[in-house]
Amino acid sequence: MVEAKKEVKKAFLNKYAIGSFNICNLETFQAVFNASKETNSPVFLSTSNTSIDYMGLENIKNLAEGLKRTKVILHLDHGSYKNAVACINKGYDSVMFDASRLSLKKNIMLTKKVVDYAHENNVIVEGEVGVLEKDGLTNPGEAEDFAEQTGVDLLAVSVGNLHGYYKYMPVLDFKRLLEIKQVVKTPLVLHGASGLNDETIKTAIRHGIVKINIDTELRWAFTKSVRDFLRRNSMNKFNNKSFDIRNYLGEARKSFERKVVDKIRLFQS
Ligand SMILES: [Zn+2]
Repeated sequence: MVEAKKEVKKAFLNKYAIGSFNICNLETFQAVFNASKETNSPVFLSTSNTSIDYMGLENIKNLAEGLKRTKVILHLDHGSYKNAVACINKGYDSVMFDASRLSLKKNIMLTKKVVDYAHENNVIVEGEVGVLEKDGLTNPGEAEDFAEQTGVDLLAVSVGNLHGYYKYMPVLDFKRLLEIKQVVKTPLVLHGASGLNDETIKTAIRHGIVKINIDTELRWAFTKSVRDFLRRNSMNKFNNKSFDIRNYLGEARKSFERKVVDKIRLFQS
């Protein structure tokens, strides 16, 4: 594993972004790992609370044993307090603790607690100010207070970005992003980047974004691949290939990996 803090700093200074890709099983884990290797780029291998429930933290930890001396940063996405502590204890490189729905004061207090514990263990922390909703945009002054008082290593912001697929291409509030960047020295994170066009992504990077989260687009690619395979090959007792798990999951893994590679290239890491 690379030193997460160093990689984030490098991205910040050289104005590119590191992709953060959500995984939930062995195939998606392999796809992100392969994409990192293929592009020789750092990546955040991202596990959410629900992915941890699905895969089991112990299994993730065991898989991650093989990531030493690779460019993969094992990361917790939108973590609860309980999972943030558990992941730090299990040897994660990076945790996002998300208390953005609480009051600013509470968000600062709890995030600071996570930061103190994480930094003792050489783990970096991402916090969030503002929520990903139309009227939850990040207030630059609040972001400044939050960054200074918590000492987070990464700060997720809400500037018109949303989770899931966009019904319409959003116009991100780049003016706000610049205002935040002017008062916050902490590297910034863009969630909900699935479906944003390349120009928007590039502009976001120019405006100081150093970590970009992709989940929905990857799930879509994976699932579409399975559906396409099954449609092409209806189940047939006499044709082993039609129900060999490795065939359809193998194709899905490949599509997921291609998508990750494309994003890494776009982010220029
Ligand atoms: Zn997110």
